[in-house]
Amino acid sequence: GRLVVAVDGPSGSGKSTVSRRLAGGLDAKYLDTGAMYRAVTWAVLRSGVDPQDAEAVAKTAAATELTIGVDPAAPQIAVDGVPVDREIRGPEVTAAVSAVSAVPEVRRLLVERQRELILAAGRIVVEGRDIGAVVAPDADLKVYLTASADARAQRRSAESAADVAATAADLARRDRLDSTRKASPLQQAPDAVVLDTTELGIDEVVERLRELLAG
Ligand code: C5P
Repeated sequence: GRLVVAVDGPSGSGKSTVSRRLAGGLDAKYLDTGAMYRAVTWAVLRSGVDPQDAEAVAKTAAATELTIGVDPAAPQIAVDGVPVDREIRGPEVTAAVSAVSAVPEVRRLLVERQRELILAAGRIVVEGRDIGAVVAPDADLKVYLTASADARAQRRSAESAADVAATAADLARRDRLDSTRKASPLQQAPDAVVLDTTELGIDEVVERLRELLAG
């Protein structure tokens, strides 16, 4: 039957690995909404549009065709037919994604698309910042993952092969941008289960979520 799991939290909280593994075990699809904001940001940079120019960013987003694969074993994303899975993880996109995702029209377009993908999938684990609060408020399970700033920087630098200090500085900058602007994307749904993953391994977090789903 239908099953929607919303996994929210800041970067480095373990969302991606946990969500993919949980989806695999549940025979469910997987949607990485951060990849969608990153793909629009890649399109903005490719067009030579200034990420701070909200009007031009909104226009670019409306004119961009995203193709989104929801297989947890091999998530894929393409912009106007061009696969961008690697490019969207690069430093240029990472530096500009907070500005692009702050544009209301970008959020409106992507939230609408996310809801369509969730409906079409039926069984799906969705990760992001605003899934439980905005995108899928009727999700069967809402999880909000946290971790200490140190743990998050360690994990992110291991993923990106970048220096821990540089990653910590970039995470702090993005946390600040994501939380100080008027419409911060990161929202904890009132009915979300909060899980601090600082001292937990991936398997332990996934196991805990399976237990919550089993009730
Ligand atoms: O999760 P990830 O680090 O790939 O997300 C990249 C950025 O996309 C976040 O820093 C945030 O600015 C934006 N984002 C968002 N809403 C989401 C998911 C990501 O605004 N649901």
